[in-house]
Amino acid sequence: MSTDKTPADTTIGFVGLGHMGGPMAINLAKAGYTVHGFDLSEEAVAAAKAEGVVPVDSVAAAATGADIVFTSLPNGGLVKRVYDGAEGILANASKGALLIDTSTIDVDEARASATDAEAAGLRHLDAPVSGGVVGASKGTLAFMVGGREEVFAAAAEVLGVLGAKAVHCGDSGAGQAVKLCNNMLLAIHQIGVGEAFALAEKLGVQDQVFYDVASAATGTCWALNVNCPVPGPVPASPANRDYEGGFAVGLMNKDLGLALAAVEKNGVHAQLGKAAGEIYGALNQTDASGKDFSIVYSDIAEKSGVVKAGSAA
Ligand code: NAD
Repeated sequence: MSTDKTPADTTIGFVGLGHMGGPMAINLAKAGYTVHGFDLSEEAVAAAKAEGVVPVDSVAAAATGADIVFTSLPNGGLVKRVYDGAEGILANASKGALLIDTSTIDVDEARASATDAEAAGLRHLDAPVSGGVVGASKGTLAFMVGGREEVFAAAAEVLGVLGAKAVHCGDSGAGQAVKLCNNMLLAIHQIGVGEAFALAEKLGVQDQVFYDVASAATGTCWALNVNCPVPGPVPASPANRDYEGGFAVGLMNKDLGLALAAVEKNGVHAQLGKAAGEIYGALNQTDASGKDFSIVYSDIAEKSGVVKAGSAA
């Protein structure tokens, strides 16, 4: 792809039009790109079509003639499946096409994708995101990108349509590495914030008082200041709507699984990361799996015997 192409003469293939991929594909179409979208789900295709994405009937059709091919899929096995084979992206994309995988997958899987893509004469970036469905819809995602510097530069314009920020983290796999490390830290933070609220409550401290002090003191973090797990102090946090509409326990559990596989493989002494994996693994087996991951507070409060009027616990 020549970088001086305008959106109007740039064709984008988009494979995976789910919660994240759907809004991303739509934002690209709204920005003037021709977007050829494919998904196994007819509902997902119909929703994207209604907002300007051109439906195609196969992965191969999405890749054929595209300057850029995005993927947004649930796991690395599926990314490999749509890349490989006679009907896959690698066999059908034009030489020099830019592949951008926004799925969250294993670091080694991302590196293997990049190697395979380059062997097929294509360019590749791993570009996992943070910002969730709201960020995907509003075009305010943050991209963590791994791959060659010049390929990252070539993707700047299109990533700028989808996100507020794109950081080049290093060579292939580095985007996934940063994503997994961040989410392992986030899980630990969210559990810690939940435990601190439960202890404060047991000690007779009101949620608002603990929040006011800790959010401006050394306990400050996103899990407290933005994703506050108790209803009240942060009105927009999922705790105020029964933990609906945030980052699901199931997705956190998936990311922790990837992070802990890397912890094992690299011999990292990550006791809190492992504990977080056990906690979210257990929570994912309950009916909380679809709720925002800050619901871990409810579990902690319940097991701690915290009693509050009107409390979710
Ligand atoms: P999703 O399940 O909503 O969407 C995935 C889509 O892929 C589905 O529509 C599915 O039908 C489609 N699909 C599966 N196999 C396919 C195939 N072979 N060919 C074509 N389409 C296929 O998942 P999502 O929430 O959109 O997440 C996508 C990726 O983004 C995941 O890797 C996830 O970890 C990551 N992510 C999600 C969020 C979030 O808040 N949802 C946030 C950050 C990152």
